[in-house]
Amino acid sequence: MPMTVKALQKEGPDKPFKVVEIERRDPRPDDVVIDIKAAGICHSDIHTIRNEWGQAHFPLAVGHEIAGVVEAVGSDVTKFAVGDRVGVGCLVNSCGECEQCRAGQEQNCLNGPVGTYNSADVDGTITQGGYSQKVVVNENFVCRIPDSLPLDVAAPLLCAGITTYSPLQTWNVGAGKKAAILGLGGLGHMGVQIAAAKGAEVTVLSRSTAKEALAKELGATRLLATSEPGFFRDHRGEFDFILNTISAPIDLRDYLGLLKPGGAMVLVGLPPEGLELHAGNLIGGRKALAGSNIGGIAQTQEMLNFCADHGFGARIEKIGVHDVDAAYNRVVAGDVRFRFVIDTSTFEDAVPAE
Ligand code: NAP
Ligand code: ZN
Repeated sequence: MPMTVKALQKEGPDKPFKVVEIERRDPRPDDVVIDIKAAGICHSDIHTIRNEWGQAHFPLAVGHEIAGVVEAVGSDVTKFAVGDRVGVGCLVNSCGECEQCRAGQEQNCLNGPVGTYNSADVDGTITQGGYSQKVVVNENFVCRIPDSLPLDVAAPLLCAGITTYSPLQTWNVGAGKKAAILGLGGLGHMGVQIAAAKGAEVTVLSRSTAKEALAKELGATRLLATSEPGFFRDHRGEFDFILNTISAPIDLRDYLGLLKPGGAMVLVGLPPEGLELHAGNLIGGRKALAGSNIGGIAQTQEMLNFCADHGFGARIEKIGVHDVDAAYNRVVAGDVRFRFVIDTSTFEDAVPAE
């Protein structure tokens, strides 16, 4: 018998969130059932459910920053036991056989990874994300949350943490490197903490100086406001590495000018609109421009351990299930310090819509 749980769904891009009842499948032998305690709100949830990236399958529950406790395990599960503290990010399955999966890059599965929401699941249904009381996930897509990290501050690591950790590792951003983090939102504030912990000299590039003190608390040596007159001229050629986490379209040509010759910019922000570029922006100064998509499961575990070892999680504002529409507007307005996290215990008293 599938179990009935409460979830927050939208019926269309312009509809408000509603508490509804959905069914979660019975655990298969290799599944774990997770009692969700906290669910982060990623800007990708907003792009998806507002249909900014194309077709969302409604009704839909989003949420891919999930932290909770294992409630039950299938008969073949070996990695987890009831009571374990666990997290699930953007992936709940992949083929497991292609060269990408075998290399631990499940997010790039050549046969199409199964996303935590809005994806076709193994049983043909559309996956429903973490704004919910429980979720059922293949054990290979579950990570362990170290004991020293509270579940609510750990939840955002499952997307914002790995999305910034992975490119910082790939591009060896550490001691001796001048790194800029572009945009100080959910991803950006994780990028600052991780890059600083890796020993890089970190500058935050933000639209204004409003978050300067917070940026320094997170480990940045300085925050620069890109709205300052002459900013792009005054800071030309300063950085070895730029991580772009901005959720809206920007003029990349300006920002590429901030790189040193031989420097690299990695895009993780995914605005629905395209970006303009001229080959000369990269050829002049032998610059590299790359993208990065979350990270594999083993690296997600490595990132969780790294954050625990360095004593930090996400900086969060906790909200209840009735606050999500308002929280979305605040995220889009840049008014979040730095991640909203839904306290899923607030589902308990919420009456499901008919
Ligand atoms: P967020 O919390 O809203 O942060 C985005 C930041 O971008 C804002 O805090 C703001 O920084 C800056 N920004 C917003 N609008 C801007 C504008 N018009 N001009 C300049 N800067 C602007 O979002 P998030 O959750 O960190 O996600 C950021 C982006 O990454 C989204 O597009 C999301 O879909 C994408 N994403 C990608 C991956 C991946 O795997 N590649 C994973 C997760 C998310 P300041 O206020 O400091 O200026
Ligand atoms: Zn995300």
